[in-house]
Amino acid sequence: MKLDLSSAIEEITKNGGRRVLLQLPDGLKPDVFSYFTELSKHFSVIVTSEAFYGACDIGNKDVYEGVDYIVQLGHSEIPNIKYPRPVIFIEKRIEKFPEIPDSAYEILSKNGYRKIGLLCSIQYLDMMYRVQIQLERLGFSTVIGKQDRRMKYPGQVLGCNFSAAHSISGEVDCYLVVSTGKFHGIGTQLSSEKPVFILDLNLRGIEDISAETDRFLRKRYARIYQARDAKRVLVVVDSKIGQYRMRLAETLMSQAREMGIEPVLIVANEAKPSDFENMMCDAVVFTGCPRVPIDEEDKFKMPVLTPQEFQMVFGLKKPSRYIMDEIVAVDPIN
Ligand code: SF4
Repeated sequence: MKLDLSSAIEEITKNGGRRVLLQLPDGLKPDVFSYFTELSKHFSVIVTSEAFYGACDIGNKDVYEGVDYIVQLGHSEIPNIKYPRPVIFIEKRIEKFPEIPDSAYEILSKNGYRKIGLLCSIQYLDMMYRVQIQLERLGFSTVIGKQDRRMKYPGQVLGCNFSAAHSISGEVDCYLVVSTGKFHGIGTQLSSEKPVFILDLNLRGIEDISAETDRFLRKRYARIYQARDAKRVLVVVDSKIGQYRMRLAETLMSQAREMGIEPVLIVANEAKPSDFENMMCDAVVFTGCPRVPIDEEDKFKMPVLTPQEFQMVFGLKKPSRYIMDEIVAVDPIN
């Protein structure tokens, strides 16, 4: 499905923009010629080939400083980021959905769940509302949670933010996450004590995520255990505009020193295993995207911990359950 650039073209033209930076995620790069040609009829356009991960990342300052507008395809805006250039986000929403048989929802009623909290990743926002209609027709009641200022839509979750789940935790029996893949379901489960199910659109079925979450937790606790004797630690700040948490990193630096650990503060635009290995550290505390320590942990030889995991290892926090790292807001980059 090709994305419609017309509203972006209209807005940039209306505001006198001439130079445009186009950012495309990997999945949309095969259409780069078509997008480039269309925008180039109106503006001077450059395309960045750098990998980027979401609306938290507008790329290299040397590149975006030279343009009037950034057009980012595929993601939704993160409203509480102060972008240094106007950014137009053109979201990718899935338009063709599979039919989900009514029987797929029996797993919810069999478990006695009647009040369902609905969540989704951005591509499946429209599908979430269709699921809502279907559930209510089947006699369930549904709630879609309000998001915080990092998120654009009610019910939307990101790998770094589950505020829409927190906001309704007292009102629902369980959550149903409309997505593909397991990450958002696991993240929701880690952020809540309520049961979580995923509606996997590839499988057209509903799955309880608790076994996956247990597997995930076993891996994380193994990493946490591995870090318990660390003496030299890198505290890493990611310089991406929507991941920059310098104040948190400074707090972690102080906490490390107080515990007799030798910390080094690192700013990086990419969590590169070879860089960390060269620095001969025992562990890394990563304050950027919470998915890096989790999704990419196999790339690293040393334990790479989230801030919360670091505080758990050294007894600064003694939570009764695992705490997921979530980003609510970031620091301004000067
Ligand atoms: S911080 Fe990570 S999960 Fe959050 S928007 Fe960026 S890439 Fe996505």
